[in-house]
Amino acid sequence: MKVKMILPALAEAESPFWRPIKYSLFPPLGLATLAAYLSPDDEIDLQDQHVEKLNLDDEPDLVIIQVYITNAYRAYKIADHYKSKGAYVLLGGLHVTSLPEEAAVHADTIFLGPTEESFPRFLEDFKNKRPQKVYRSFVRTLQNLPPARRDLIKRNKYLVPNSLVVTRGCPYHCDFCYKDAFFLGGKSFYTQMVDDALAEIDRLPGKHLYFLDDHLLGSPRFASELFEGMKGMGRLFQGAATIDSILNGDLIEKAAEAGLRSVFVGFETFSPENLRQSNKKQNMARSYEEAVKRLHSLGIMINGSFVFGLDSDDKDVFSRTVEWGVKNAITTSTYHILTPYPGTRLYQNMEADGRIVSRDWELYDTRHVVYKTQSLSPEELEEGYNWAYKEFYSWSNVIDASLRHDSAKHKLKHLFYTGGWKKFEPLWNFIIKAGGLNNMLPLLETILTKVDKKEDVRVDVLGSVIN
Ligand code: SF4
Repeated sequence: MKVKMILPALAEAESPFWRPIKYSLFPPLGLATLAAYLSPDDEIDLQDQHVEKLNLDDEPDLVIIQVYITNAYRAYKIADHYKSKGAYVLLGGLHVTSLPEEAAVHADTIFLGPTEESFPRFLEDFKNKRPQKVYRSFVRTLQNLPPARRDLIKRNKYLVPNSLVVTRGCPYHCDFCYKDAFFLGGKSFYTQMVDDALAEIDRLPGKHLYFLDDHLLGSPRFASELFEGMKGMGRLFQGAATIDSILNGDLIEKAAEAGLRSVFVGFETFSPENLRQSNKKQNMARSYEEAVKRLHSLGIMINGSFVFGLDSDDKDVFSRTVEWGVKNAITTSTYHILTPYPGTRLYQNMEADGRIVSRDWELYDTRHVVYKTQSLSPEELEEGYNWAYKEFYSWSNVIDASLRHDSAKHKLKHLFYTGGWKKFEPLWNFIIKAGGLNNMLPLLETILTKVDKKEDVRVDVLGSVIN
Protein backbone atom coordinates (compact mmCIF):
# COMPACT_ATOMS: atom_id res chain seq x y z
CA MET A 1 0.00 0.00 0.00
CA LYS A 2 1.18 3.53 -0.80
CA VAL A 3 0.90 5.82 2.23
CA LYS A 4 1.39 9.57 2.23
CA MET A 5 1.94 11.33 5.59
CA ILE A 6 1.81 15.11 5.62
CA LEU A 7 2.48 17.86 8.12
CA PRO A 8 1.09 20.97 6.37
CA ALA A 9 2.87 24.26 7.11
CA LEU A 10 1.34 26.52 9.73
CA ALA A 11 -0.20 29.78 8.47
CA GLU A 12 2.80 31.63 9.96
CA ALA A 13 4.85 30.18 7.09
CA GLU A 14 3.36 32.83 4.83
CA SER A 15 3.33 35.73 7.28
CA PRO A 16 5.90 38.53 7.58
CA PHE A 17 6.87 36.97 10.93
CA TRP A 18 8.01 33.75 9.20
CA ARG A 19 11.39 32.66 10.47
CA PRO A 20 12.48 29.55 8.54
CA ILE A 21 14.83 28.49 11.35
CA LYS A 22 11.99 28.44 13.90
CA TYR A 23 10.09 25.92 11.80
CA SER A 24 13.16 23.84 10.87
CA LEU A 25 13.91 22.79 14.41
CA PHE A 26 11.98 19.57 14.94
CA PRO A 27 10.97 16.79 12.53
CA PRO A 28 7.35 15.51 12.43
CA LEU A 29 7.84 12.96 15.17
CA GLY A 30 4.11 12.26 15.62
CA LEU A 31 3.77 11.05 12.05
CA ALA A 32 6.99 9.01 12.27
CA THR A 33 5.55 7.41 15.43
CA LEU A 34 2.34 6.47 13.59
CA ALA A 35 4.33 5.12 10.64
CA ALA A 36 5.77 2.48 12.96
CA TYR A 37 2.36 0.72 12.98
CA LEU A 38 2.29 0.38 9.19
CA SER A 39 3.57 -2.74 7.48
CA PRO A 40 7.26 -2.84 6.47
CA ASP A 41 5.91 -3.59 2.95
CA ASP A 42 4.02 -0.28 2.78
CA GLU A 43 5.58 2.43 0.67
CA ILE A 44 5.60 5.49 2.94
CA ASP A 45 6.31 9.07 1.88
CA LEU A 46 6.48 11.45 4.87
CA GLN A 47 6.52 15.15 3.95
CA ASP A 48 6.85 18.23 6.16
CA GLN A 49 5.78 21.37 4.33
CA HIS A 50 7.83 23.55 6.71
CA VAL A 51 11.03 22.28 5.16
CA GLU A 52 10.10 21.01 1.68
CA LYS A 53 7.73 21.65 -1.20
CA LEU A 54 4.85 19.17 -1.09
CA ASN A 55 4.49 16.77 -3.96
CA LEU A 56 0.73 16.53 -4.50
CA ASP A 57 0.89 14.82 -7.90
CA ASP A 58 1.26 11.31 -6.50
CA GLU A 59 -1.46 8.64 -6.17
CA PRO A 60 -1.33 7.26 -2.61
CA ASP A 61 -3.89 4.76 -1.31
CA LEU A 62 -3.93 6.22 2.20
CA VAL A 63 -3.24 9.83 3.23
CA ILE A 64 -2.60 10.84 6.86
CA ILE A 65 -2.57 14.55 7.72
CA GLN A 66 -1.71 16.12 11.07
CA VAL A 67 -3.85 19.18 11.81
CA TYR A 68 -3.01 22.10 14.09
CA ILE A 69 -5.23 25.16 14.34
CA THR A 70 -3.21 27.44 12.06
CA ASN A 71 -2.61 24.83 9.38
CA ALA A 72 -6.23 23.61 9.43
CA TYR A 73 -7.41 25.34 6.23
CA ARG A 74 -4.31 24.19 4.36
CA ALA A 75 -4.76 20.66 5.73
CA TYR A 76 -8.40 20.59 4.59
CA LYS A 77 -7.42 21.70 1.07
CA ILE A 78 -4.83 18.95 0.82
CA ALA A 79 -7.35 16.44 2.18
CA ASP A 80 -9.98 17.50 -0.38
CA HIS A 81 -7.39 17.23 -3.14
CA TYR A 82 -6.50 13.65 -2.26
CA LYS A 83 -10.11 12.65 -1.66
CA SER A 84 -10.99 13.84 -5.15
CA LYS A 85 -8.22 11.59 -6.45
CA GLY A 86 -9.77 8.60 -4.69
CA ALA A 87 -7.32 8.23 -1.79
CA TYR A 88 -8.61 7.31 1.67
CA VAL A 89 -7.93 10.36 3.88
CA LEU A 90 -7.30 10.44 7.64
CA LEU A 91 -7.15 13.59 9.75
CA GLY A 92 -5.97 13.77 13.33
CA GLY A 93 -4.31 16.09 15.83
CA LEU A 94 -5.18 18.84 18.29
CA HIS A 95 -7.54 20.80 16.06
CA VAL A 96 -9.42 17.75 14.81
CA THR A 97 -9.98 16.69 18.41
CA SER A 98 -11.27 20.18 19.32
CA LEU A 99 -13.58 20.57 16.31
CA PRO A 100 -14.40 17.11 14.95
CA GLU A 101 -17.47 18.21 12.94
CA GLU A 102 -15.42 20.77 11.05
CA ALA A 103 -12.65 18.29 10.20
CA ALA A 104 -14.93 15.34 9.40
CA VAL A 105 -16.25 17.04 6.25
CA HIS A 106 -12.76 16.77 4.71
CA ALA A 107 -11.84 13.26 5.82
CA ASP A 108 -12.90 9.66 5.42
CA THR A 109 -11.87 9.01 9.01
CA ILE A 110 -10.91 11.32 11.88
CA PHE A 111 -8.96 10.56 15.04
CA LEU A 112 -9.79 12.16 18.38
CA GLY A 113 -7.11 12.33 21.06
CA PRO A 114 -3.86 10.39 21.09
CA THR A 115 -3.55 7.62 18.51
CA GLU A 116 -1.23 4.97 19.98
CA GLU A 117 -4.14 2.61 20.47
CA SER A 118 -6.73 3.85 17.95
CA PHE A 119 -4.47 3.87 14.87
CA PRO A 120 -3.65 0.13 15.03
CA ARG A 121 -7.39 -0.48 15.49
CA PHE A 122 -8.10 1.55 12.37
CA LEU A 123 -5.47 -0.37 10.37
CA GLU A 124 -7.10 -3.64 11.30
CA ASP A 125 -10.54 -2.33 10.30
CA PHE A 126 -9.15 -0.83 7.09
CA LYS A 127 -7.60 -4.16 6.15
CA ASN A 128 -10.98 -5.80 6.73
CA LYS A 129 -12.69 -3.09 4.65
CA ARG A 130 -14.82 -1.75 7.49
CA PRO A 131 -13.11 1.43 8.69
CA GLN A 132 -15.17 3.69 10.94
CA LYS A 133 -15.72 7.44 10.51
CA VAL A 134 -14.39 8.33 13.96
CA TYR A 135 -11.79 6.72 16.21
CA ARG A 136 -11.56 7.84 19.81
CA SER A 137 -8.69 6.99 22.09
CA PHE A 138 -9.83 4.72 24.93
CA VAL A 139 -6.71 3.02 26.20
CA ARG A 140 -3.88 5.33 27.24
CA THR A 141 -0.53 3.63 27.45
CA LEU A 142 2.96 4.02 26.08
CA GLN A 143 3.95 0.45 26.78
CA ASN A 144 5.09 -1.85 23.98
CA LEU A 145 5.14 0.91 21.37
CA PRO A 146 7.11 0.08 18.24
CA PRO A 147 10.08 2.45 17.74
CA ALA A 148 9.25 5.56 15.68
CA ARG A 149 10.20 5.26 11.98
CA ARG A 150 13.00 7.82 12.21
CA ASP A 151 14.38 6.49 8.93
CA LEU A 152 11.52 8.41 7.21
CA ILE A 153 12.76 11.73 8.64
CA LYS A 154 15.06 13.86 6.50
CA ARG A 155 17.51 14.57 9.33
CA ASN A 156 19.66 17.04 7.42
CA LYS A 157 16.71 19.45 7.11
CA TYR A 158 16.40 19.95 10.88
CA LEU A 159 18.57 21.64 13.47
CA VAL A 160 17.33 19.29 16.19
CA PRO A 161 16.59 15.89 14.63
CA ASN A 162 16.92 14.10 17.97
CA SER A 163 13.61 15.26 19.40
CA LEU A 164 11.67 12.73 21.45
CA VAL A 165 8.65 12.36 23.72
CA VAL A 166 8.79 10.03 26.71
CA THR A 167 5.54 11.09 28.41
CA ARG A 168 2.15 12.22 27.14
CA GLY A 169 0.15 15.13 28.49
CA CYS A 170 0.70 16.95 31.76
CA PRO A 171 -0.61 16.63 35.33
CA TYR A 172 -1.86 20.26 35.38
CA HIS A 173 -4.99 21.90 33.99
CA CYS A 174 -4.30 25.44 32.81
CA ASP A 175 -7.43 27.00 31.31
CA PHE A 176 -5.78 28.19 28.10
CA CYS A 177 -4.08 24.87 27.35
CA TYR A 178 -5.22 22.34 24.74
CA LYS A 179 -4.21 19.46 26.91
CA ASP A 180 -7.50 18.72 28.71
CA ALA A 181 -9.52 18.82 25.47
CA PHE A 182 -7.08 16.51 23.68
CA PHE A 183 -6.98 13.91 26.45
CA LEU A 184 -10.69 14.07 27.31
CA GLY A 185 -12.19 10.70 28.24
CA GLY A 186 -9.08 9.07 29.68
CA LYS A 187 -5.78 9.59 31.44
CA SER A 188 -4.29 12.98 30.64
CA PHE A 189 -0.77 12.22 31.82
CA TYR A 190 1.16 8.97 31.41
CA THR A 191 4.73 7.93 30.85
CA GLN A 192 6.78 5.39 28.95
CA MET A 193 8.51 2.61 30.85
CA VAL A 194 11.89 4.00 31.91
CA ASP A 195 13.77 1.19 30.15
CA ASP A 196 11.93 1.88 26.88
CA ALA A 197 12.74 5.59 27.12
CA LEU A 198 16.42 4.80 27.79
CA ALA A 199 16.47 2.38 24.85
CA GLU A 200 15.04 5.08 22.58
CA ILE A 201 17.69 7.54 23.77
CA ASP A 202 20.36 4.93 23.11
CA ARG A 203 19.18 4.54 19.51
CA LEU A 204 19.65 8.26 18.77
CA PRO A 205 23.01 9.27 17.31
CA GLY A 206 25.18 12.14 18.61
CA LYS A 207 24.92 13.91 21.96
CA HIS A 208 22.06 16.36 21.78
CA LEU A 209 18.42 15.53 22.65
CA TYR A 210 15.34 17.70 22.83
CA PHE A 211 12.50 16.34 24.95
CA LEU A 212 9.25 17.71 23.52
CA ASP A 213 7.24 16.52 26.53
CA ASP A 214 4.84 19.13 27.92
CA HIS A 215 6.34 18.61 31.37
CA LEU A 216 9.41 16.39 31.51
CA LEU A 217 9.45 16.48 35.34
CA GLY A 218 5.68 15.86 35.59
CA SER A 219 6.13 12.46 37.22
CA PRO A 220 8.94 12.83 39.79
CA ARG A 221 9.39 9.07 40.06
CA PHE A 222 9.65 8.49 36.31
CA ALA A 223 11.88 11.54 35.78
CA SER A 224 14.16 10.59 38.65
CA GLU A 225 14.66 7.05 37.29
CA LEU A 226 15.12 8.37 33.76
CA PHE A 227 17.82 10.83 34.86
CA GLU A 228 19.50 8.14 36.94
CA GLY A 229 19.62 5.91 33.84
CA MET A 230 20.93 8.75 31.68
CA LYS A 231 23.88 9.46 33.97
CA GLY A 232 27.06 8.61 32.13
CA MET A 233 25.38 8.50 28.70
CA GLY A 234 27.14 11.75 27.79
CA ARG A 235 23.97 13.44 26.58
CA LEU A 236 23.10 17.14 26.53
CA PHE A 237 19.41 17.85 26.55
CA GLN A 238 16.71 20.47 26.58
CA GLY A 239 13.13 20.10 27.82
CA ALA A 240 10.22 21.79 29.61
CA ALA A 241 9.35 21.99 33.31
CA THR A 242 7.05 23.95 35.63
CA ILE A 243 8.08 26.40 38.35
CA ASP A 244 7.03 24.11 41.20
CA SER A 245 8.93 21.12 39.79
CA ILE A 246 12.07 23.27 39.65
CA LEU A 247 11.65 24.37 43.26
CA ASN A 248 10.54 21.06 44.80
CA GLY A 249 13.01 18.42 46.01
CA ASP A 250 16.19 17.73 44.07
CA LEU A 251 14.77 16.60 40.72
CA ILE A 252 16.25 19.55 38.86
CA GLU A 253 19.71 18.72 40.24
CA LYS A 254 19.28 15.15 38.98
CA ALA A 255 18.22 16.50 35.58
CA ALA A 256 21.29 18.74 35.44
CA GLU A 257 23.53 15.83 36.36
CA ALA A 258 22.00 13.76 33.54
CA GLY A 259 22.70 16.57 31.03
CA LEU A 260 19.85 19.12 31.18
CA ARG A 261 21.31 22.37 29.81
CA SER A 262 18.29 24.48 28.93
CA VAL A 263 14.68 24.43 30.06
CA PHE A 264 11.41 25.92 28.81
CA VAL A 265 9.48 27.42 31.75
CA GLY A 266 5.91 28.76 31.59
CA PHE A 267 6.16 31.88 33.81
CA GLU A 268 3.17 33.28 31.84
CA THR A 269 2.30 36.20 34.17
CA PHE A 270 3.35 37.90 37.40
CA SER A 271 -0.20 38.74 38.46
CA PRO A 272 -1.88 36.48 41.05
CA GLU A 273 -5.30 37.42 39.58
CA ASN A 274 -4.13 36.34 36.13
CA LEU A 275 -2.77 33.08 37.53
CA ARG A 276 -6.11 32.42 39.19
CA GLN A 277 -7.97 33.30 35.95
CA SER A 278 -5.80 30.75 34.12
CA ASN A 279 -5.97 28.06 36.81
CA LYS A 280 -2.14 28.10 36.77
CA LYS A 281 -1.87 26.63 40.27
CA GLN A 282 1.70 25.42 39.86
CA ASN A 283 2.93 29.05 39.66
CA MET A 284 0.92 30.47 42.55
CA ALA A 285 2.83 31.70 45.59
CA ARG A 286 6.08 30.54 44.02
CA SER A 287 9.13 32.74 43.74
CA TYR A 288 10.04 32.99 40.07
CA GLU A 289 13.38 34.55 41.06
CA GLU A 290 14.23 31.60 43.28
CA ALA A 291 13.51 29.17 40.41
CA VAL A 292 15.70 31.24 38.09
CA LYS A 293 18.55 31.35 40.63
CA ARG A 294 18.40 27.62 41.11
CA LEU A 295 18.53 26.96 37.36
CA HIS A 296 21.42 29.37 36.88
CA SER A 297 23.37 27.83 39.76
CA LEU A 298 23.14 24.53 37.84
CA GLY A 299 24.24 26.12 34.56
CA ILE A 300 20.81 25.60 32.98
CA MET A 301 19.72 28.22 30.45
CA ILE A 302 16.10 29.38 30.52
CA ASN A 303 13.52 29.87 27.77
CA GLY A 304 10.74 31.79 29.53
CA SER A 305 7.21 31.79 28.18
CA PHE A 306 4.99 34.82 28.90
CA VAL A 307 1.35 35.56 28.01
CA PHE A 308 -0.04 39.06 27.38
CA GLY A 309 -3.71 40.01 27.42
CA LEU A 310 -5.02 38.28 30.54
CA ASP A 311 -7.74 40.37 32.12
CA SER A 312 -5.59 42.00 34.81
CA ASP A 313 -2.85 43.12 32.40
CA ASP A 314 -2.36 46.86 32.15
CA LYS A 315 -0.28 49.02 29.82
CA ASP A 316 2.87 48.46 31.86
CA VAL A 317 2.79 44.69 31.53
CA PHE A 318 5.07 44.70 28.46
CA SER A 319 7.90 46.79 29.96
CA ARG A 320 7.58 44.99 33.33
CA THR A 321 7.90 41.60 31.64
CA VAL A 322 10.85 42.56 29.44
CA GLU A 323 12.68 44.25 32.34
CA TRP A 324 12.17 41.23 34.56
CA GLY A 325 13.51 38.92 31.84
CA VAL A 326 16.64 41.02 31.33
CA LYS A 327 17.24 41.54 35.05
CA ASN A 328 16.93 37.82 35.69
CA ALA A 329 19.15 36.87 32.74
CA ILE A 330 16.47 34.80 30.98
CA THR A 331 18.25 33.43 27.89
CA THR A 332 15.32 33.54 25.47
CA SER A 333 11.76 34.75 25.92
CA THR A 334 8.72 33.55 24.03
CA TYR A 335 5.83 35.99 24.21
CA HIS A 336 2.23 35.12 23.34
CA ILE A 337 -0.98 37.06 22.99
CA LEU A 338 -3.60 35.14 24.96
CA THR A 339 -5.36 32.80 22.52
CA PRO A 340 -8.60 30.98 23.35
CA TYR A 341 -8.12 27.73 21.43
CA PRO A 342 -11.39 25.93 20.68
CA GLY A 343 -12.00 23.11 23.14
CA THR A 344 -10.26 24.85 26.04
CA ARG A 345 -11.98 26.16 29.15
CA LEU A 346 -10.78 29.63 28.22
CA TYR A 347 -12.62 29.37 24.90
CA GLN A 348 -15.78 28.08 26.56
CA ASN A 349 -15.74 30.92 29.11
CA MET A 350 -15.09 33.57 26.48
CA GLU A 351 -17.75 32.16 24.19
CA ALA A 352 -20.29 32.15 27.04
CA ASP A 353 -19.43 35.81 27.70
CA GLY A 354 -19.68 36.72 24.00
CA ARG A 355 -16.00 37.67 23.87
CA ILE A 356 -14.83 35.69 20.82
CA VAL A 357 -14.54 38.15 17.93
CA SER A 358 -12.90 35.99 15.25
CA ARG A 359 -13.11 32.35 14.25
CA ASP A 360 -10.54 32.68 11.51
CA TRP A 361 -8.23 29.93 12.77
CA GLU A 362 -5.24 31.35 10.92
CA LEU A 363 -5.32 34.28 13.36
CA TYR A 364 -5.06 31.89 16.33
CA ASP A 365 -1.27 32.05 16.18
CA THR A 366 -0.74 33.90 19.51
CA ARG A 367 0.25 37.02 17.53
CA HIS A 368 -3.27 38.34 16.93
CA VAL A 369 -6.08 39.40 19.25
CA VAL A 370 -9.16 37.27 18.56
CA TYR A 371 -11.24 38.14 21.65
CA LYS A 372 -12.72 41.19 23.38
CA THR A 373 -10.00 42.49 25.67
CA GLN A 374 -10.61 44.10 29.07
CA SER A 375 -7.92 46.45 30.38
CA LEU A 376 -6.02 46.89 27.11
CA SER A 377 -7.35 47.69 23.65
CA PRO A 378 -6.58 45.11 20.91
CA GLU A 379 -4.21 47.64 19.28
CA GLU A 380 -2.35 48.24 22.54
CA LEU A 381 -2.04 44.53 23.04
CA GLU A 382 -0.63 43.78 19.57
CA GLU A 383 1.68 46.80 19.67
CA GLY A 384 2.91 45.90 23.15
CA TYR A 385 3.53 42.32 22.10
CA ASN A 386 5.61 43.40 19.09
CA TRP A 387 7.45 45.97 21.20
CA ALA A 388 8.32 43.35 23.84
CA TYR A 389 9.97 41.06 21.28
CA LYS A 390 11.95 43.90 19.73
CA GLU A 391 13.03 45.27 23.09
CA PHE A 392 14.00 41.97 24.74
CA TYR A 393 16.12 40.98 21.74
CA SER A 394 17.79 44.38 21.26
CA TRP A 395 21.56 44.00 21.38
CA SER A 396 21.76 46.24 24.46
CA ASN A 397 19.36 44.00 26.39
CA VAL A 398 20.94 40.77 25.12
CA ILE A 399 24.34 41.99 26.36
CA ASP A 400 22.89 43.37 29.59
CA ALA A 401 21.19 40.03 30.38
CA SER A 402 24.33 38.05 29.46
CA LEU A 403 26.49 40.08 31.82
CA ARG A 404 24.23 39.35 34.77
CA HIS A 405 25.53 35.78 35.10
CA ASP A 406 28.23 35.16 37.71
CA SER A 407 30.59 33.11 35.62
CA ALA A 408 32.38 34.23 32.47
CA LYS A 409 31.41 31.10 30.55
CA HIS A 410 27.74 31.56 31.34
CA LYS A 411 27.98 35.12 30.08
CA LEU A 412 29.42 33.91 26.77
CA LYS A 413 27.01 30.99 26.46
CA HIS A 414 24.06 33.32 26.98
CA LEU A 415 25.38 35.79 24.42
CA PHE A 416 26.02 33.14 21.76
CA TYR A 417 22.77 31.27 22.34
CA THR A 418 20.49 34.32 22.32
CA GLY A 419 22.44 36.14 19.60
CA GLY A 420 22.59 33.00 17.46
CA TRP A 421 18.88 32.35 17.84
CA LYS A 422 17.62 35.84 17.07
CA LYS A 423 20.32 37.91 15.45
CA PHE A 424 21.64 35.94 12.48
CA GLU A 425 18.51 35.30 10.44
CA PRO A 426 20.16 35.77 6.99
CA LEU A 427 22.87 33.30 7.97
CA TRP A 428 20.27 30.71 9.09
CA ASN A 429 18.34 31.23 5.85
CA PHE A 430 21.52 30.69 3.85
CA ILE A 431 22.36 27.49 5.75
CA ILE A 432 18.79 26.18 5.31
CA LYS A 433 18.90 26.88 1.56
CA ALA A 434 22.29 25.20 1.30
CA GLY A 435 20.72 22.13 2.96
CA GLY A 436 23.27 21.89 5.77
CA LEU A 437 21.23 22.81 8.83
CA ASN A 438 22.07 19.59 10.63
CA ASN A 439 25.78 20.51 10.32
CA MET A 440 25.16 23.28 12.86
CA LEU A 441 24.33 20.78 15.60
CA PRO A 442 27.93 20.50 16.89
CA LEU A 443 27.90 24.27 17.44
CA LEU A 444 24.69 24.01 19.45
CA GLU A 445 26.22 21.16 21.46
CA THR A 446 29.29 23.29 22.20
CA ILE A 447 27.14 26.13 23.50
CA LEU A 448 25.18 23.70 25.67
CA THR A 449 28.29 22.06 27.14
CA LYS A 450 28.50 22.07 30.92
CA VAL A 451 30.56 24.78 32.56
CA ASP A 452 33.40 23.28 34.54
CA LYS A 453 35.38 25.40 36.93
CA LYS A 454 38.76 25.10 35.17
CA GLU A 455 37.28 26.09 31.82
CA ASP A 456 35.57 28.99 33.48
CA VAL A 457 38.90 30.40 34.60
CA ARG A 458 40.15 30.11 31.00
CA VAL A 459 37.21 31.96 29.48
CA ASP A 460 37.41 34.56 32.22
CA VAL A 461 39.84 36.46 30.02
CA LEU A 462 37.23 36.53 27.23
CA GLY A 463 34.49 37.34 29.72
CA SER A 464 36.40 40.35 30.91
CA VAL A 465 36.48 41.61 27.30
CA ILE A 466 32.69 41.72 27.08
CA ASN A 467 32.45 43.04 30.61
S1 SF4 B 1 1.53 23.22 32.64
FE1 SF4 B 1 1.72 23.57 30.42
S2 SF4 B 1 1.16 21.63 29.44
FE2 SF4 B 1 0.45 21.54 31.56
S3 SF4 B 1 -1.69 22.20 31.47
FE3 SF4 B 1 -0.45 24.03 31.92
S4 SF4 B 1 0.05 24.96 29.92
FE4 SF4 B 1 -0.70 22.85 29.55
